[in-house]
Amino acid sequence: MLIDTHAHLDSLDDLPGTLARARENGIGRIIAISSDLASSRDTVSISEKYENVFAAVGIHPHAAKTADSGVLKEIETLAGAGKVVAVGETGLDYHYLNSEKDAQINSFAAHIGIAYRVGLPIVIHARDADLDLIGILKTEKVSERTGVIHCFTGNYETARKYLDLGFYISFSGIATFKKSEEIRDAAKKIPGDRLLIETDSPYLAPVPLRGKTNEPAYVKYVAETIADTRGVSPEEIAEVTTENAERLFRFER
Ligand SMILES: [Zn+2]
Ligand SMILES: [Zn+2]
Repeated sequence: MLIDTHAHLDSLDDLPGTLARARENGIGRIIAISSDLASSRDTVSISEKYENVFAAVGIHPHAAKTADSGVLKEIETLAGAGKVVAVGETGLDYHYLNSEKDAQINSFAAHIGIAYRVGLPIVIHARDADLDLIGILKTEKVSERTGVIHCFTGNYETARKYLDLGFYISFSGIATFKKSEEIRDAAKKIPGDRLLIETDSPYLAPVPLRGKTNEPAYVKYVAETIADTRGVSPEEIAEVTTENAERLFRFER
């Protein structure tokens, strides 16, 4: 069994078909990740409708400018829903700067506070902003459930800093791209008990499906790449990453 720990199910066209294909490919569980308030409401309803789907609620750094106090209050309420297993995605994206840095930092700090109060892990999006992210994680009171740096694209040295703070590292289809040697080097070196895999569907389809619409079934290609990189069998990676996801997200909640 594999777990796709990060999929934007609310952005996929044919959800029943997508979930059926995921099941056929051995994807036992999927975490539906939110990007704004409307999407947080949607992922909670999707998780209520489908047995194998769990939800994370939050405001993506791109939409951080929408995260006013009313919105954050509703996110905190939604975080209490039955199958919500994490807060996110939140974080910092200085590459696109769709929201200004200040708005992103305030929203990120607020999400850390929500995760702390509701006792859930955080799903963190990091792009060209590791220094600020690590600084904020060191100064804010972080939930003891920590969280995950999703779609990790840094090197091992950066991964080490997040690992030292207790975080898990999740690899996406980017790890399968030819040029991603540095990312694969990190995937090779990080401790097995902190490793997670994801698709970030519908974005970033892995090789050999690069450029297509991504879906949870394709997380198996990420697992194969990580297995190859670490010199172990895909079955072993499936087992280890599934155990890790179960420990971090406590699905039985
Ligand atoms: Zn992201
Ligand atoms: Zn995402």
